[in-house]
Amino acid sequence: MKNLTILGSTGSIGVSTLEIVAAHPDRFRVVAMTAGINLELFVRQIRQFAPRIAVVASTDDVPRLEEMCTGLDVKILGGVEGLVVAATADETEMVVAAIVGAAGLVPTAAAIRAGKDIALANKETLVTAGHLFMDLVKEHGVSLYPVDSEHSAVFQSIEGHRSGDIQKIILTASGGPFLNTPADQLSRVTVRDALNHPNWSMGRKITIDSATMMNKGLEVIEARWLFDVPVEKIDVNIHPQSIIHSMVEYIDGCVIAQLGTPDMKAPIAYALSYPERVSTGIKPLDLTRLSALTFFRPDMEKFRCLGLAYRAIKGGQSMPAVMNAANEIAVDAFLEGRIGFVQIGETIERTMDAHSACVLGSIEEVLKADLWGRETAREICREMVR
Ligand code: NAD
Ligand code: MG
Repeated sequence: MKNLTILGSTGSIGVSTLEIVAAHPDRFRVVAMTAGINLELFVRQIRQFAPRIAVVASTDDVPRLEEMCTGLDVKILGGVEGLVVAATADETEMVVAAIVGAAGLVPTAAAIRAGKDIALANKETLVTAGHLFMDLVKEHGVSLYPVDSEHSAVFQSIEGHRSGDIQKIILTASGGPFLNTPADQLSRVTVRDALNHPNWSMGRKITIDSATMMNKGLEVIEARWLFDVPVEKIDVNIHPQSIIHSMVEYIDGCVIAQLGTPDMKAPIAYALSYPERVSTGIKPLDLTRLSALTFFRPDMEKFRCLGLAYRAIKGGQSMPAVMNAANEIAVDAFLEGRIGFVQIGETIERTMDAHSACVLGSIEEVLKADLWGRETAREICREMVR
């Protein structure tokens, strides 16, 4: 029996995680869970999984949640302090980090410091503070398992191999909804077009990140830290069918890949049950029904966000944190109709241009760089005329 805390239980990853927990009540138990805004769903989850602790992101929502949970044996908390209590609960052995954005930094860092293993979906934590997180993981002797499908594929493809033998990591990307949209038409795409992902059903922020391909940029940075591989050895291939979830090429020319039906339950389940495997109910992959698996290089001019992510990690220090913050602000502004689709990349680039990278020696310093990035990007968005 593994005791879990789920940070972000009402999100796309959180809900899929709870489906796996529900299918294996003999293996997993939920000790604590946290949510942002969807209190109705959260209360249904609390009733079903009976956690000891339930935390809502805003302390203002605590009285309402308490009222909705009348008669249930659950401790209700709020705010970042509450998130930290959930992430460090005594009985918890593994924390599923599935909050979106840099908001996941503080509770995930607290979990590692409390000796909890981490199933990491929240890639923004590694993008903003990869060096600090990997040091913390080593210092506290915890295990960090990737939930992101590409990184789970790499993780599965490097097991039993020496990291020195890796020639290249090849992350696959679906290319998102605008793969075949001419670059000069991107300025006219709508929020609805951008939310219409061809292969994956995910939260709104990561769906927009997939449309700009910033998601792949964040994943390059995530892979750099998770697998301790220089960014020069990390390539991106567009693979529209999303069947090969990523590959590792070795110095002898052999390439090992992980394949499957695209469904996040597979990488989530592997992170929860490693080194064992559990059933997920995912449709088996029938290769005979696929007409082709295709691969090609991304168009870096059209998907400028991918290039910005390479620029940020090569610049290093505070640049990735600032890039990530600007992206979060720009995606919000796009979703709220304040800026156009191509202005997402423009906002990020202008924020990065305005930033002089500096060393980040602590999570507090990362949060400062994050705040600077947010304020600068907000200002740039305000100046922009759609
Ligand atoms: P989502 O928006 O569906 O869910 C996010 C969860 O975090 C929700 O429970 C929300 O209430 C909570 N939350 C949001 N802001 C918060 C805040 N400020 N404080 C506390 N809680 C907050 O997002 P998602 O698609 O599930 O993605 C979660 C993370 O996993 C992201 O970092 C994403 O990049 C990563 N990821 C997601 C997928 C996917 O298929 N959805 C795949 C790979 C990686
Ligand atoms: Mg991914």
